[in-house]
Amino acid sequence: MSGSSTKNGGAPTVYLGHIVDPMDEDTYRDIPEGALVVSSEGQIEVVGKWSDLSAQYSSGKLVDCGRKLIMPGMIDMHIHLPQVSQIGKSGDTLLGWLEKYIFPAEARFSDLSHAEKIATWFFDELARNGTTLAVVFSTIHKEATDAAFSIAADKGMRAIMGKVMMDRNAPASLLENSKNSLAESEQLANKWHGFDNGRLLYAFTPRFAITSTDELLHDCGKLWQSSPGTYLHTHLSESLEEVKKVASLFPSSRSYLDVYDQSGLVGARSVFAHSIHLDDQDLRVMHQKHCVLAHCPSSNFFLKSGIFPLDRVKAAGVEFGLGSDVAAGPQMSLFGVMKDANFIQPQIWISPRELFYRATRGGAKALKLEDRLGSLEAGKEADFIVVDPTLKNACPMDILEHETDDILSALVFLGDDRMIDSTYIRGRPVFKRTREKEAAGIS
Ligand SMILES: [Zn+2]
Repeated sequence: MSGSSTKNGGAPTVYLGHIVDPMDEDTYRDIPEGALVVSSEGQIEVVGKWSDLSAQYSSGKLVDCGRKLIMPGMIDMHIHLPQVSQIGKSGDTLLGWLEKYIFPAEARFSDLSHAEKIATWFFDELARNGTTLAVVFSTIHKEATDAAFSIAADKGMRAIMGKVMMDRNAPASLLENSKNSLAESEQLANKWHGFDNGRLLYAFTPRFAITSTDELLHDCGKLWQSSPGTYLHTHLSESLEEVKKVASLFPSSRSYLDVYDQSGLVGARSVFAHSIHLDDQDLRVMHQKHCVLAHCPSSNFFLKSGIFPLDRVKAAGVEFGLGSDVAAGPQMSLFGVMKDANFIQPQIWISPRELFYRATRGGAKALKLEDRLGSLEAGKEADFIVVDPTLKNACPMDILEHETDDILSALVFLGDDRMIDSTYIRGRPVFKRTREKEAAGIS
């Protein structure tokens, strides 16, 4: 091989296909006969036209993807691992849905073998959907969360994850002693945060204000702030019913966000799912403190929670990405979430360019990982998907002949998980359609 080699001498692999790669909300690189060169250590060495690179790399290991798209992997900024068995069950709004479907499903995670079965299925499904990074709620159970980290580690998956913390207003089987909850979270963070050079990261995960005492939130704030690089992941202002209940539980707080702010939980690497019902002061605080939002449109449709204030969030300069929020969102596929993000806005047309950016690079930026993830640029980690538009009948066969906007538009409005041909994390395949296994049965 005449091409450059990696530090340990391994030869790079060259993936040939039609590369579409976001630079920002509006700017894309579109390379029809492109080459993505990945080192043996899973880092992107170079991206360009194959005609410009073939002399250097033609004798190396080539993976010709044919007439398929090569794109950055999708980033899901909010999803619940234990809820996958409850997808599609609704008929209620947030608080009733939690009581009826979700809390019983999460209580089953005290059974470690059940927890391992669901976690195995969960990470396989993420890979099958083209999701290369997810920000994940586990349950309150330390052993189940530890097992989920182990399974992600073994499968080569990437996650920001944490044990849920709840010390009031939940069924007895899901209530914790506050001190134990904090101690177990700290133990898991110490064990897993930064695993494999940052492939797995820890997020302290109080469920939401309603299931947290003031003491739990304050102590969580102290713990999070003394754990550099970790995340804080919770729900905020999803439904009006929830907002009202938070106001009655925390009468000294100006707003729902203020409950978290008074507890030291608002800062860079705070990820607030939903964030629908916000006032201007909330948005100012968010901007000042650099916290970020996970917009979950499919979930908001499903539970009829409200409409994300997209124009106000953008005007305030608050960063956000997209989340599936399975199981309140009925799909893991970020393709469907992108479409719903457009559809749920009654007045605003969100361009396919922006939507695909939000599902990839925008998520990486919000999570402070843009230097490593989110696009296909030299020096970044090789998290990418190969997309075959012909795998979905409704998608025009000649999509690759089209301009960038039409390619992205077809993906956003016609795409789903069936178009994912393969998924790579750090250059390692974690899903290949030809080797697709039957999903493990969930009972
Ligand atoms: Zn959620």
